[in-house]
Amino acid sequence: MDAQGNVQSNDTSTNGTANESEPATPTDAPFPFNSPHADVILRSSDGMNFRVRKAILAEASPFFETMFSLPTGTEQSTEKTHAPDLPVVPMPEDSTVVVGLLQFCYPAGRQLQEMTLDDIVGVLPAARKYTMDRMVEYVTPLLQRFVATSSLRVYCLAIRFQLGEDLTRAAARGFLDHPIQVAYSHITELDYISGAAYARLLDYHNRCSFHVQQLFVRYYTGIDSAWDERCWHQCNFESKKNCTYRSFENSQRVTVWFSGLMVRCRNLAKDRPSSREFSLQSTIAKALVEAGKCTFCGPRAWGDLQVFLPLLTTRIDGAISQISLDVVAEALSA
Ligand SMILES: [Zn+2]
Repeated sequence: MDAQGNVQSNDTSTNGTANESEPATPTDAPFPFNSPHADVILRSSDGMNFRVRKAILAEASPFFETMFSLPTGTEQSTEKTHAPDLPVVPMPEDSTVVVGLLQFCYPAGRQLQEMTLDDIVGVLPAARKYTMDRMVEYVTPLLQRFVATSSLRVYCLAIRFQLGEDLTRAAARGFLDHPIQVAYSHITELDYISGAAYARLLDYHNRCSFHVQQLFVRYYTGIDSAWDERCWHQCNFESKKNCTYRSFENSQRVTVWFSGLMVRCRNLAKDRPSSREFSLQSTIAKALVEAGKCTFCGPRAWGDLQVFLPLLTTRIDGAISQISLDVVAEALSA
């Protein structure tokens, strides 16, 4: 359809209004978009005919509601070759996108819960274009599923399509699991947000990195009420069989193996200021091996860490939640 949303007659063989790239023989979409009770056909750019009802589309899309309320000014064709005797709406979107839009409108075909991130990326521009606000509201929570694995893409989508502060902040939070230095040239969604929006995300990452690193320098003793009973604090350093000690920057004396663990966590926080990293087995495995050489710490280290690390994780999450992220609405772009 053109910019005014005009509906063409289906007589594309003689009046020259057909899209020149349109395949010669359109194919019919499968159920439920092949209804004999349909009153309009949406034809995707790759030549698939979707027989649908105007009333259902109008219900989901003010864009279509307006379009269908306008007189088409064309006679419906009776051509029988491959175009049915219904008005045809040529769409610039391909059949994958049209299916995504129609699945929202048609409960019988609804499989939106199974949409991949690429599926959502495909339909969002069209959903915005056809003012299908309820569909945008429906897929926005689905994007939360991809925050952990594709945080930057979700952040870009949230900014580009104004999907709300909750999703934007969740995506930025997920971004903390990844180092900034990773090359993002393959993420095409970046093309659609401003440099300022991306800079705000990097600034958020940097500030979280700074504050989380501070937790490993000065504050960690204050988070554990049983700190004095932890093996890394109690181990008798005067025995040759036990651990050597090292003073932390706050003058707390702790075993070398525990100090090493905290240093590794702090180094992780530089690139990935996320509590997820610190609860990984790989992070603490080395500490447990070192603690195992000590007759005092060996039997106690794992139990004490199992109590302490969740406290540390909670403190990190709390610190990150205090870090602000400016979410500035940007003009919607196609
Ligand atoms: Zn020890």
